[in-house]
Amino acid sequence: APALDVAKIRQEFPILQTQVFGVPLVYLDNGATTQKPQIVIDTLDKYYSGYNSNVHRGVHQLSQQATEAYEQSRKTVADYINAAHSHEIIFTKGTTDSINLVASCFGRAVIRKGDTVIISAMEHHSNIVPWQMVCEEKGATLKVIPINELGELQMDAFTAMLDDTVKIVAVTYVSNTMGTVNPVKDIITLAHARNIPVLLDVAQAIQHISIDVQELQPDFLAFSGHKIYGPTGIGVLYGTSEWLNKLPPYQGGGDMIKTVTFAKTIYNELPYKFEAGTPNIAGAIGLGAAISFLQETGLDKIQQWEEQLMTYALSSLREIDGLRLIGDAAHRSGAISFLVHNIHPYDMGELLDKQGIAVRTGHHCTEPLMDLFKIPGTVRASLSFYNTLEEIDKLVAGIKKASAMLL
Ligand code: PMP
Repeated sequence: APALDVAKIRQEFPILQTQVFGVPLVYLDNGATTQKPQIVIDTLDKYYSGYNSNVHRGVHQLSQQATEAYEQSRKTVADYINAAHSHEIIFTKGTTDSINLVASCFGRAVIRKGDTVIISAMEHHSNIVPWQMVCEEKGATLKVIPINELGELQMDAFTAMLDDTVKIVAVTYVSNTMGTVNPVKDIITLAHARNIPVLLDVAQAIQHISIDVQELQPDFLAFSGHKIYGPTGIGVLYGTSEWLNKLPPYQGGGDMIKTVTFAKTIYNELPYKFEAGTPNIAGAIGLGAAISFLQETGLDKIQQWEEQLMTYALSSLREIDGLRLIGDAAHRSGAISFLVHNIHPYDMGELLDKQGIAVRTGHHCTEPLMDLFKIPGTVRASLSFYNTLEEIDKLVAGIKKASAMLL
């Protein structure tokens, strides 16, 4: 297949044509959120100006059109991750909301005193705190898969942790801080051998790595629309029909019911059982447009280009005097964290910003990981398929210039 036409791709993103402080924007904060292609912006505009109305309710034309578009997006998501049924796709507010849904419903239904929940040392706060809350409430224990100094999961330790008290394993596919790609297939195989379900946080994988849930077989999978070129405020929870049917609903309200009397409510079937209230209709439709855009571009081509970018970025950064990578896994995607000499990440970030280069600084919602490395935070550059080798060169030059000023 011909390689990705990056120049053409960039034309699709209006924000990439803008300037910051009088220089072209170099956007390397894709781990925080991604930019939106014109088709996503147009799709939102068309919904609001052409057929805005509520879903699943009206008999009228606009409502039918909105419902159709909303449900078509569900099918697009199902197709993208190869879910067996589109009712296994629940629209949520984002990764955080999806994980809270599972922690809350699974917690109520399954977790008891003395049980164990396993997460990893590199989890985002959103895959730590909801489980801590459940464990506290139920008298269960949260255990953490350790990592080595390269930021890779220690699989022997994980295997040793799997005993009869473990009720669920919740891990990230890709670290948002270090870019580590975890061996999730192995994790799932090991857990399933003991009938333990697995939740995958794919917030940093879904836009970079092709995921087939029927092949990978996670029990739950969570991601955010805004990190895959879609709008904010929309996210996805995938769950197997088996689990989603077994769990109690998350929130009560309209749409999630079949019948309501003051004596008793009969819940709706999947996926509506988990979608109480008016959903983010525009967001879901916009997410569908974003995913279709990726599918048309070709995830294989995207993956290929992003791997080239990553290789180039790593080798260029390694050349910088005093630069230390935080996490240096053999298999990685998306994010690169680093520190330069003893320069505070915030100072580096600020001086890069003045040169039009957007990176993120701080703990990246992974404070326990920062504690392990005994650092307050990092500078993080995170890549997208619309980034170029020239932009990596600008980052490197920018870091050198900032270092010269700060040292
Ligand atoms: N998990 C990971 C790995 C993430 O990178 C993020 C976003 N930084 C989240 C969860 C939370 O996503 P959101 O804030 O969109 O809910």
